[in-house]
Amino acid sequence: MDFFASVEKLKGVGPKTAEILKKYGIRTVRDFFYNLPRNYENYEAPTSIEEIHPGKVVIRGKIDSLSTRRARRRNLSVTEGIIRDETGAIKVVWFNQRYRIKQFSPDKEYFFTGNYEFRNGRYSLVSPSVAEVADVDPETGLSPIYVAHGALKSRDFRRLVKNSRDIFNSIPDLLPSVAPGTRKKALFNAHFPDSLKSVAVARDYLAYEELFELILAARLNRRENEKLKAVAIPFNLAKIREFVAKLPFNLTGAQRKAAWEIFQDMEREIPMNRLLQGDVGSGKTMVAALAAYGVTLSGHQVALLAPTAILASQHYEGLKRLLEPLGVKIAILTGATKNKAELKRQISDGEIDFVIGTHALLTDDTEFKDLALVIIDEQHRFGVEQRQKLALKSPQGLAPHLLAMTATPIPRSLQLTVFGDLEVSILNELPKGRRPITTSILTEVEIQERLYPEINKTFKSGQQIYWICKAIDSDSRAETTSVKSRLAKLKRDFPKMNINFLHGRMKPAENDNIMEKFAAGKIDLLVSTTVVEVGVDVPNASLMIIENAEAYGLAQLHQLRGRVGRGTVASFCYLLTSGDIPPSRRLRELEKSSDGFHLAEVDLKLRGPGEIYGALQHGALDLRIASLSDVKLIAKAQKDAVDFLKNPENMLKYKELMTGISKYQQITTLN
Ligand code: ADP
Ligand code: MG
Repeated sequence: MDFFASVEKLKGVGPKTAEILKKYGIRTVRDFFYNLPRNYENYEAPTSIEEIHPGKVVIRGKIDSLSTRRARRRNLSVTEGIIRDETGAIKVVWFNQRYRIKQFSPDKEYFFTGNYEFRNGRYSLVSPSVAEVADVDPETGLSPIYVAHGALKSRDFRRLVKNSRDIFNSIPDLLPSVAPGTRKKALFNAHFPDSLKSVAVARDYLAYEELFELILAARLNRRENEKLKAVAIPFNLAKIREFVAKLPFNLTGAQRKAAWEIFQDMEREIPMNRLLQGDVGSGKTMVAALAAYGVTLSGHQVALLAPTAILASQHYEGLKRLLEPLGVKIAILTGATKNKAELKRQISDGEIDFVIGTHALLTDDTEFKDLALVIIDEQHRFGVEQRQKLALKSPQGLAPHLLAMTATPIPRSLQLTVFGDLEVSILNELPKGRRPITTSILTEVEIQERLYPEINKTFKSGQQIYWICKAIDSDSRAETTSVKSRLAKLKRDFPKMNINFLHGRMKPAENDNIMEKFAAGKIDLLVSTTVVEVGVDVPNASLMIIENAEAYGLAQLHQLRGRVGRGTVASFCYLLTSGDIPPSRRLRELEKSSDGFHLAEVDLKLRGPGEIYGALQHGALDLRIASLSDVKLIAKAQKDAVDFLKNPENMLKYKELMTGISKYQQITTLN
């Protein structure tokens, strides 16, 4: 039997089963074997019913008296029965698992694993998982548990895997960097465990394999990128020096270094593929401005993409102030732009040097005469396809240089794996004079007593305030306070203050208008949804209040908090919670640390990479087993993947590997 044959070829897989499997992405025998057990039950030492205690138990026994009924609560079916062993009998109950009624033969023995607990006035075993004793290896007592796929339950997978036991021997090797046969042994042991130790060894190998593929994909992307041609941008030291000298502040050392790295990249005829990571407020825009200026000096065009209209117009205003006096022709193109056709003509004729915009920039009829640099602010907001689209706009088959900026630092482990095709510059230094932000968790009942005095104090000293709400309108069912209801309340409580609001359902022009007023200091307190999250820069704002803080992720909270602390006065951030339950680890970490790099590592541990980079690669990063916090294993896979690529023949020889990694290649491609 061929490892790559259709899954239908497996014994016991008919058209119906194959249909279900396909729905879950299992098309071939290979896919089927890589559908690894989620867990293993250990049946070595079941409890006798006589000795049962509340809590997790494994019982070995027979079952009878099965019946199903509807519970009083709608949509709930209750299936009950009696489990017996030689020492006694207990009640068992399952909810919404009606198939259980037909599952058992009265004369067969089963293992039941679940919680023995007090429910509805008596003790029962609640929703246990089940394995037939005959199915469990009598020597080891271990039984793999598979994730149910539709109608296919764990035991169905066990049965099918058992049917294909003989095929394991024909599994070919995948990687040259491990001993021959390692792979088939690992897959076999994962499905037919003979001890927990051999399971661990198997999983270690499979995790390594996964990381190897991920890293190899990133490395290959880097190679692909190096095959592309870009226009070389000469570095005009004199002009750049002049520009820097005129700035009202000194660049930080980190800004200088990043700009230098960018200029060096762009001097090559290979497209730059660089990620600029800097914590909120570290001055990424200034680095972008330097890069953009350098490119326009040599007569080419630059595009900057921002995730929101507010941010695009703020970048536009700031960059115009900086660059227009130097002769750079700069324009903004968003959904709200009037006379788009004329502007687009100017862009395609090369009359505009530097265009800033949102997604509107990506519409198909925006043509550039000579686009040499694309800057993407908050890169995790843009999908890969959008980025590719923009790269295609460069004429003569030349790929533009690419600078992606993000305030969500990428943990080192991800940098080595998923983002291994990127060069990285880091702004790990805040501009001088910044004061740290003091963060506190407060409960809603403390608003009047603790928060209101802070608001008054901030207002009196002429500083400004953000108040973030989750929802726009009030909904009687929702537990979150809306922008509108909070606005009304604050207006009542602070009649002297100029309070306004902002949210994503407003027209872009309205949005801009409010933001401009806030930036100009004409609004004292701005009640807003998270539309102000990314990038907005109002140095005079020093108080950030985030209501329903538990509703946001760590990275998002850090971003929101980063809207303050941009000036020279001390800033404060209050995270409001209902107080019903103790604050989450997320909030406590945020209270302790203002270091975005540290918080990103914490976030990776708490939520996993798929969540963090959700928008960018939704689902694609669902690693089967590898943990992206396993630094040692990553280092090994990294070294081996690099060695693999040193021998060009490998790419022809290891076909399965090369085909398998294409799915990873897509998530990491920038150009
Ligand atoms: P972010 O990295 O979050 O995008 P910005 O580029 O918005 O940060 O910069 C934050 C603020 O810091 C802006 O007001 C900017 O003008 C200012 N800034 C940038 N570089 C420096 C510097 N070297 N010294 C002082 N202020 C700076
Ligand atoms: Mg920014």
